[in-house]
Amino acid sequence: MKRILILTAGFGDGHKAAASNLRAALELVTDEAKVEVLDLFESSYGVLNALLKQSYRGLVRYAPGVWSGVSSILDHHTVFRWQTDMMGSLRTALEDVLEQAEPDVVVSTYPVYGQFVEDIYREHAERPFRLITVITESIRVCSSWYRAPCDLFVVPNNLTAAALQDAGVGQDRIKTLGFPVTPLFSSERSHIAPPKYHWDPKKVLYVINTGKAKAGKCLERLLSIPNLELTVTVARDASLKAKLAGRLREYGDRVRLYGWTNRMPKLLMSHHLVIGKAGGALVHEAIAARCPIIANQVIPGQEEGNAQLIETFGVGAVAHTKRQLSELVEGAFAHQARQWLEWRQNLDKVSRPDAAVQIAQLILRESVDGSGVLRPLRLFEGFGGRGQRSGPGLPAPSRVLLCDFHIHTNYSDGRLTLPEVIDFYGRRGFDCICITDHVTDPRRLIGRFSELLNFTVAPHQLDEYFDSIEQERKRAWRKYNMLVMTGLEFNKEGFTKKTSGHLLGIDLKAPIPASLDFVETIALIHGQSGLAVAAHPHVMKSEWGKNTLFLWENQEVFAPIIDAWEIANRNNIFTPVGLKRLAYLANSDFHKPKHIYSWKTLLQCEKDPEAIKECIRKNERVSLTMYREAASSEAVEAQHNVEQSLASESGPPSLVAARVSA
Ligand code: ZN
Ligand code: ZN
Repeated sequence: MKRILILTAGFGDGHKAAASNLRAALELVTDEAKVEVLDLFESSYGVLNALLKQSYRGLVRYAPGVWSGVSSILDHHTVFRWQTDMMGSLRTALEDVLEQAEPDVVVSTYPVYGQFVEDIYREHAERPFRLITVITESIRVCSSWYRAPCDLFVVPNNLTAAALQDAGVGQDRIKTLGFPVTPLFSSERSHIAPPKYHWDPKKVLYVINTGKAKAGKCLERLLSIPNLELTVTVARDASLKAKLAGRLREYGDRVRLYGWTNRMPKLLMSHHLVIGKAGGALVHEAIAARCPIIANQVIPGQEEGNAQLIETFGVGAVAHTKRQLSELVEGAFAHQARQWLEWRQNLDKVSRPDAAVQIAQLILRESVDGSGVLRPLRLFEGFGGRGQRSGPGLPAPSRVLLCDFHIHTNYSDGRLTLPEVIDFYGRRGFDCICITDHVTDPRRLIGRFSELLNFTVAPHQLDEYFDSIEQERKRAWRKYNMLVMTGLEFNKEGFTKKTSGHLLGIDLKAPIPASLDFVETIALIHGQSGLAVAAHPHVMKSEWGKNTLFLWENQEVFAPIIDAWEIANRNNIFTPVGLKRLAYLANSDFHKPKHIYSWKTLLQCEKDPEAIKECIRKNERVSLTMYREAASSEAVEAQHNVEQSLASESGPPSLVAARVSA
């Protein structure tokens, strides 16, 4: 078993994406490697690191000019030096990690690690692992990437290779394999027909990943171009999505709005053009997808190289004003799309959609196979290993499974992405979880409730939702031995608590329309051999979500057909469910990390989906537990706030989000 440690950090785009794409590619090409991605800045410095990142983001977002000034006065190296001086124990942390992990290969997608490694092994005859640096920059390559020695440098293109050679790095140590975009770019390529120049309408993808208040105007200008369709993605900014939905309603089918999506590869491959910020990840993804790119925002310093890359390769353009943007889009398709075709031809020359797989194979070739015996290793094992928990005197089956069947991701109004949720629960040793994002009956969403639609899985994203969970289900099983089920929370919002109800469908195989009444919904859930569970069916005291009593008030209809009722939801306990001796479950209704500290279900049965469902239906050997762990809830929350604030760049969640989050 080979051990591969990927070191990264969250300063700026691209580093973290490169790291996680490499992990995905490694997991794709081999079962014979343990791969761990580590952001030592994150784990070593917690809050301090968060502050640093936030101030960096703040600078970038609000004062790009200031940032430019800072980075020109202090070159990258000085900035890094300053950070490392400030956080003197990073080197020690890395030393500890390397000693514990005993990796065969260390891959770094962030510049400073090479220097630390050099420092740590200065007194050693040789370093006990191979070190590969995957450079994510093009053209302007900061010297801190290659100042320290390294076995191999993987670079995204010939321009970066040339820059390294100019700086004196030997040619034999440079591998030009491309930027490691997600391996989906190569695996999905054969399924998607690339757009043709004569296709009408022209499909333009508009990616918003920083809170852009003025995006609406820009989009309207683009929509004044005839025969143009827009797909807009707003990342995690649900309130911006809501705003744009209202503003662009009059354009009907010409505009398709996405909140969070992990289908970027597919979207890029099926659109004529992409418009977005010149971040490392997007530019390289567009190149991999052979989708011409128009950059409408360039952060001075770190992104100028990417903008230059677009122009040097001739794979798109940089727009400096809104007006120039729409002129560029219009011009691309004028004269039988002459400009667009030229961009496409150039893309064919530089596109490397399988870069991550190529780099993964290189990493594997470099890894020196150890004894073949898997050594016990904390770092790679997660927090699992609770082992057997059989109760004394109880007959087989003896496993006790820790379960949570009510979890939201940012496909609806949760704060974490689906993969983040999987890792969050997997690391805590959960045995079975069910993802239950909200879908809402659109017929009920009149007046004040209509904005809630933006915090539910959109009907056109349901297939993606099911596919993504299916993917993560496999990863969760491989990595954490954790079962993941697909579910939905069907919301019916009435004007009163007695006409409002939330119903969970657990272990679904396919989407179920949100517009059916609950009796029909339950029939379809059972048709898929799923479970129908009443969510928070009674009065909640401690939460500010509104009460949803519809199912409880109509027990004569629902008690015979509902498989279980939540006796506990997050911190609430619903005593009447116990008094009535109804089949029960206890769930977090997880929306954010601190919700992990809440009621959970323990099941004593085999770790198998059918056995688990049968155990719940029969409601024997079911118990509830209040989940606690060593770290405080504040620590868990703080840690994930950092991730979140980095990823969303969209400010705090709105009140609307809070209201739906029951
Ligand atoms: Zn919920
Ligand atoms: Zn709910």
